[in-house]
Order: sequence, then structure tokens, then C-alpha cells
Amino acid sequence: MEISPYYEKKFDCPHCKTAFKSLKIRKNAVRIDATDTDFYPTYKEGSAKGYYYNVFVCEHCGYSFTEDFSPYFAPGVQQKLTEQVCAHWTPHHFKGERTAHEAIQAYKLAFLCGTIKQERHIILAGLLLRIAWLYRELGNKPQEIRFLRLSLAQYNESYSTGDYEKLNMSEMRVLYMIGELAFRLDDIEQATRYFSRIIERQSLGGDAKIVDMAKERWECVRAIREERRAHIQA
Ligand SMILES: [Zn+2]
Repeated sequence: MEISPYYEKKFDCPHCKTAFKSLKIRKNAVRIDATDTDFYPTYKEGSAKGYYYNVFVCEHCGYSFTEDFSPYFAPGVQQKLTEQVCAHWTPHHFKGERTAHEAIQAYKLAFLCGTIKQERHIILAGLLLRIAWLYRELGNKPQEIRFLRLSLAQYNESYSTGDYEKLNMSEMRVLYMIGELAFRLDDIEQATRYFSRIIERQSLGGDAKIVDMAKERWECVRAIREERRAHIQA
């Protein structure tokens, strides 16, 4: 008998304290075929789509979160959540297999709750990036671009406040994400600056894979700059 890639896990909602269930994925059930330059995964045929299940949605109150959310609620936050999320919530569960549309809903709920709760920018950036990926999968370019832009703003905030450190994300990786999202949004100047910073710092050691990726992307950026310069001169 084949083992299901999913298993149910019981959670106690950190907000309303009621128990609910959500699917989790067995690690070895996720088989990635390729990874795009912004880490967007393409899964092998029949593989469970791992990142569809990162968000846990409480079916009772609508509070939504990931494993990275802080368990702490600052004074006043729970009242805001009750007013802005739970009061509008019609109880329904997200505990089964998710379509891309359901995964988008789950991520948007987590983004709303994370914003109210003032989660770190690096966490919000990750949620927004995954919404962009889901739209990419659906072939919805305008929404993909919209969420890449929102994600880039959060990565920029994270870089300037340094809040990525608490999530064990390296500075190189944050620089890379800023360069990469800027590139995808056609901000060639910002992309050049951030890829160059990574290449300048490579002697300090760290993430060799990110340095290689940045070099490759820097070459693409350089080619576009030259092409545009030639176009202007012509
Ligand atoms: Zn709840």
C-alpha cells in the first residue's frame, strides 16, 4: 500500500485556543524537479506541493500563521485580530488537500494576521513571495508582479532593520532576494547594486551557492544594460 504524502496534525489555535487540524507533508514526499532563480519550485509529477501547506488556518476563528510566527501577542493585538479577522470569519476549514486558489487564500490570511501582529518583515516577505509563486503557477502575471513588488518592499525593510538575522537567514541571501526581485520587476539599477554587493563580499565566505547564483544573474543584468545602452546609442 502506498503511504499518503500527507498526514493530519492537530494544533491548538494560539489566538482562540480551540483545537483544529491541518495537513502536513512528509518530507520525503516532496520531489522537486527544478528551482527557479527566485527559488520557485517545480515539483515532479505526482509530488506533493510542499509550500501549499506552510500556513495553518484555524477553522474556528480564521487566525492563520506559519511555524515562523512568534507565539507572542503584543498588548492589543488579540483585540485587533478579533475585530479585523474573526468578526468577518465564516467558519470553514482548510484541513484537506489544497488547490492553488486555497493556498493563496491561506497565505493572504496569514499575511493579514502577520501584519496585524507585526511579524518580522522577513516573514511577511516570504508569505508575499509564495503568493507571487502561486499566481505564477496559475499564469496570472499581473497578480504575480503585484505580489513580487510587495515582497520586495518587505525584503528591503528586513535588510534595513536586520530582522532576518533572527530567522537564521544569511545577509547574502537577503541581498540576493532583493537583487532577484528587483531584476524581475525590471529595476535593473537596484538589481545591479545588490548582485554586485554579494560578489564584492564573496571573499568573506558564507553561502557559496548564493554567490554563484548572484554571478549568473549579474551576467544577465550586465547583458541587459549593454543591450539598452546600445539601443540608446543607435
Ligand atoms: Zn482560532
